[in-house]
Amino acid sequence: MSSGLLWGPFIFTEKNYTMANMLKIYDPISKENKEFEAIDPEKVGMYGCGPTVYNYVHIGNLRAYVFNDLLKRYLRYSGYEVQHVMNVTDVDDKTIKGSIKAQESLKTFTEKYLAAFLEDLEKLNIELPDVMPKATDHIEEMVALTELLLEKGYAYKADGSVYFRIAKFPNYGKLVGLEKQELKENAEGRLSNADEYEKEESNDFVLWKGYREEDGDVYWETRLGKGRPGWHIECSAMAMKYLGETFDIHCGGVDLMFPHHVNEIAQSEAATGKPFANYWMHNAHVILSGQKMSKSVGNVYGLRDIIEKGYNPLLWRIALLKAHYRTTMDFSFDDFVEVKAIADRFVQFMLTIDTVTNIEYNDIDMEAVITEHRGAFIEAMDDDFNVSSAFAAIFDFMNEVNKSMDIINTEQAKDVKVFMFELDEVLGFIEPLYDQYRIELTKKIDEAQADTLVAKRNEARKAGDYAKADEMRDKLAAHGLVVDDTAQGPIIKLK
Ligand SMILES: [Zn+2]
Repeated sequence: MSSGLLWGPFIFTEKNYTMANMLKIYDPISKENKEFEAIDPEKVGMYGCGPTVYNYVHIGNLRAYVFNDLLKRYLRYSGYEVQHVMNVTDVDDKTIKGSIKAQESLKTFTEKYLAAFLEDLEKLNIELPDVMPKATDHIEEMVALTELLLEKGYAYKADGSVYFRIAKFPNYGKLVGLEKQELKENAEGRLSNADEYEKEESNDFVLWKGYREEDGDVYWETRLGKGRPGWHIECSAMAMKYLGETFDIHCGGVDLMFPHHVNEIAQSEAATGKPFANYWMHNAHVILSGQKMSKSVGNVYGLRDIIEKGYNPLLWRIALLKAHYRTTMDFSFDDFVEVKAIADRFVQFMLTIDTVTNIEYNDIDMEAVITEHRGAFIEAMDDDFNVSSAFAAIFDFMNEVNKSMDIINTEQAKDVKVFMFELDEVLGFIEPLYDQYRIELTKKIDEAQADTLVAKRNEARKAGDYAKADEMRDKLAAHGLVVDDTAQGPIIKLK
């Protein structure tokens, strides 16, 4: 390409920094930040509750997965190897009900929504978990775990189902401060067959559901009888299968804290006598213009709806990243203006770096500038993922580089670019946006034969024929292109 834009392959260098392990994670039990200490100092096991594949997820649901992605990327950036497990709930009350209503087999029904979910992850540049176990592939593990609970007296059979005996587990509800003895006493004998139930109402919850007619053809013949697993036991069985009896971090939306996570803890710890997860991280909800997303309000949007409205899905990633995970995110579609401005700022910065051709020496210590801002970024992220401070550190870095853009040389420009891509190992949107921009630009330059138009424009300007120069400019504009005259010569950009 001879448009005056300069870019080339850049090389990831070996990380030349070491990090003291200072990550602090908010602990919902003590309600204080707790220093993160991995069980294995080199490897972190994390489990995030995955989707129940009975419908298309909405943009608020996606917050959990963007947050899990950020967490995983940052742990890796901090030097850990990460084993990330996310379950797929493909059998529960909702999937069965939905498949019957749709007159499809449970598998056909759930596979369709799983495929759509995976598409959303890809569009948001979310890395796939290392393992994505499906509940229906792990019935045996759930049966075995239930049997163990029966053996230890933590579970009992009633009406063909198996229930967890809350009264036998003294720490029940600790995660959400639901520790009142009377709740547990009241719970005894009150059975709940539903996967979900009202907050603050503890019930002896179901581990294995005996077959009922409304389950249609969804059942397994097992040692526990004919039936299917309860929702909570799915996560316990799969988390422990892939991460061990005790693992580092368990994540999920704040709505899953009770009863789901409380029940996961009870089942798992009762069975093993060991702590289940050492850290719990819950992302808050997304609300739209002050309102909860709901069908009755008519404000439930999927990622597809955002794309149809003309927004790049990566803008949604940025919007989600920008909000601290524990804060309710109140978003309005007008906020996309600000998010788009942030995206543009990153892309334009990268493109400007590409235009540096200067090879002269200067006295800027770029390495020191990078080290300082890397430090600020890490400090912010280590503080229970203080993303706004982390973004501030990056903006500050870009401002500082921009101020000396005219004098920095190609070596320094390369270091800047490598650093930006290093940060993007955590953020996951700079490189894809930059790539998309260049692909789009190249396409438009080809379509417009922009090189010829720019050459003609230059000739016309030299000859003082401004009418002709303007005509060339308009032709470029018709193809969505603009020319920026810089010290390095004219640069073609997307309008
Ligand atoms: Zn779960």
